[in-house]
Amino acid sequence: MLDIKLERAAALKTKPAVGQPLGFGHLFTDHMFVMNYTEGKGWHDPRIVPFSNLSLSPAAMVFHYGQEMFEGLKAYRSADGHTYLFRRDMNAKRAIQSNDRLCIPRIPPEDFVQAVRTLVAVERDWVPSDPGTSLYIRPFVIATDDFLGVAPSKTYLFLIILSPSGAYYESGLAPVGIWIEDDYVRAVRGGMGFAKTGGNYAASLAAQVKAHDSGFSQVLWLDGVERKYIEEVGAMNIFFKIDGKIVTPMLNGSILPGVTRDSVLHLCRHWGLPVEERRIAVDELISAQESGSLEEVFGTGTAAVISPVGKLRWKDRVMMIGDGTIGPVSQKIYDTITGIQWGTLEDPFGWRVTVD
Ligand SMILES: *Cc1c(COP(=O)(O)O)cnc(C)c1O
Repeated sequence: MLDIKLERAAALKTKPAVGQPLGFGHLFTDHMFVMNYTEGKGWHDPRIVPFSNLSLSPAAMVFHYGQEMFEGLKAYRSADGHTYLFRRDMNAKRAIQSNDRLCIPRIPPEDFVQAVRTLVAVERDWVPSDPGTSLYIRPFVIATDDFLGVAPSKTYLFLIILSPSGAYYESGLAPVGIWIEDDYVRAVRGGMGFAKTGGNYAASLAAQVKAHDSGFSQVLWLDGVERKYIEEVGAMNIFFKIDGKIVTPMLNGSILPGVTRDSVLHLCRHWGLPVEERRIAVDELISAQESGSLEEVFGTGTAAVISPVGKLRWKDRVMMIGDGTIGPVSQKIYDTITGIQWGTLEDPFGWRVTVD
């Protein structure tokens, strides 16, 4: 158990009013969690302090070589006023995979969960209650040694900040257009694609800009070696319904193992739908689309839960998916996961945990 000290903010910020659009990632709560790591001493001084700027040396290693990791999860307000977390043990375990890959010392999963839970409990009045809104939780670790040599840092900061966020879909789940990228790649096997780390996002920006400029909202990445097999889409995992089967790329080291991905697989198997985790070539999608068996395409991630795909661009070809509205399986998955998250449905899997 961490002995978390609490230093309350002298003055609290004004919380957003009910009905006020929150957007994503702009607003932050009154407090943050901080814990230091020092070589020889381990993780120490866990504390919740007023949200404030950090003071770091310009030589701090994170600024130069990107030794950092992050996580992303949410707290949900139920209609009867409870605050829930969803599968937070999965984020704690994934953090270990990311830390190991980045040579960042591990945070024991029970400490990770305790830190998240304690901070959210302190900030529970910040969990918004409008339909579809949530409190986004961003844990992250940065390397803080002031040293320009390339080596793992000997000191780190683990922080958690919280941001009230709006409903992802203000007006129903509108399918988006996806750009299958044939030049840039995001990650390769042996690289750090499976880790949640800033460098992967930095690597993704150029293609994202290119896709936006061409009128598509997200990039679908292919494997970095043959540029033939589907990996994932933007900051989401990707699923296809082909000929009645739910198909998603298998985890191969370059794909981020999403908590939502795992939940979707779990639900589909629970419902008795045929599920396949395997390699999927772009060519297979093209023939499935031509023969009419590419029934649904959707991305999965904590932010959107399900993001239906209405069209896929590959080189000079644009493939339309279904009739331009969300497919029935995508909708059912969305309704079930969000129902569990906000407490309107039974939770047969024990995914939902109360904070207060
Ligand atoms: C976070 C993330 C996902 C989705 O993971 P969830 O745990 O479902 O939110 C997918 N791909 C990438 C690259 C990510 O960073």
